[in-house]
Amino acid sequence: MQRKAKTPGWKDKILFTPGPLTTSETVKQAMLRDLGSRDSELIGLVKDIKDKLVGLGQAGPDEYTAVPMQGSGTFGLEAVVSSTIPPDGKLLVIVNGAYGKRIVQIASVLKIATAILECPENTTPDLGQIEAALEADPEISDVSVVHCETTTGIINPIEEIGRIVKKSGPKYFVDAMSSFGAVPIDLAECNIDYLVSSANKCIEGVPGFSFILCKLSSLKETAGYARSLSFDLLAQYRGLEKNGQFRFTPPTHVLLALRQALAELDAEGGVKGRAERYSNNYKILVAGMRQMGFKEYLRPEDQGYIITSFLYPEDDNFHFEDFYERLNKRDCVIYPGKVSDANCFRIGNIGRIFESDVRSLLTAIRETITEMDVKLK
Ligand SMILES: *Cc1c(COP(=O)(O)O)cnc(C)c1O
Repeated sequence: MQRKAKTPGWKDKILFTPGPLTTSETVKQAMLRDLGSRDSELIGLVKDIKDKLVGLGQAGPDEYTAVPMQGSGTFGLEAVVSSTIPPDGKLLVIVNGAYGKRIVQIASVLKIATAILECPENTTPDLGQIEAALEADPEISDVSVVHCETTTGIINPIEEIGRIVKKSGPKYFVDAMSSFGAVPIDLAECNIDYLVSSANKCIEGVPGFSFILCKLSSLKETAGYARSLSFDLLAQYRGLEKNGQFRFTPPTHVLLALRQALAELDAEGGVKGRAERYSNNYKILVAGMRQMGFKEYLRPEDQGYIITSFLYPEDDNFHFEDFYERLNKRDCVIYPGKVSDANCFRIGNIGRIFESDVRSLLTAIRETITEMDVKLK
């Protein structure tokens, strides 16, 4: 099985991963330009991108703004943690996977006080426990949760958590890295103050910057909070407001690619259209994997359509590295597991991949387990 693009000599493997992801040829082609940082085209493009991103969060520019931050997704998370939590603040981190733990790690390096509410990786957080944690500790100034915990693919209830946070008053920060653009999110309805995502997840741009959707009234309260120059969210926002420019070298090619990616998202029918394609990818994948005898780690009711963790088959002939390499030779890139209490591998449905790609992957997996003599049933 080979994936041939229209450009001669251009053949990439299909990425069934949580990022970097497969992007369209047109998105990659959009980068074949050099723009100066003060170019009026670039300034207009940055403004358009910001407005479109706010629109994807079902909000308007009076209430929310999008602040792009150079670097990968984690840099955006670090910008929120380092520059929106007050000097004497305390962050309640809701954890049910590796990405929740990463937020704890960011806060810990920054010496920001945390309270951690950890629940098993195969369950969504208990809303009663969140309520109790907030009641018990009036020092909590901020609450964070991961929307789609990419560790497993579980979808956490950000709207219900938002309602609880609103009742008790802290700011609310959502890592929607792997869901924004493909799972509908109403920023205001969820009471979100800060939401982080990246150019190269469900928006299907190329990696290079993250963006933070900020409730303007909250962002403006953060003067003096920043613990770092580069990650200063308010300064980055003010810089862009002042002259439309980034404070430091803008990721020009990545911005050009994102403009094209946003146009392709629109053409697909926006978040709803993308959700349909990814859900269909997910359905085809899971049906095919179950038919072969693979089992998912999560209960189907907790599982989102972004990425799925599958348990290793209980057969001594199965070795993940070998399985991975054999699929890789067939141009299918899957991902190792990240769950701490079970042996899993992961298959993503996001990026520029379609039903035919998922079917090719299923064929490759079927051939591979036969080659490896792995018995599943
Ligand atoms: C991908 C991802 C990140 C980290 O993004 P990087 O681009 O690797 O820094 C953080 N949180 C979630 C939920 C993710 O899926």
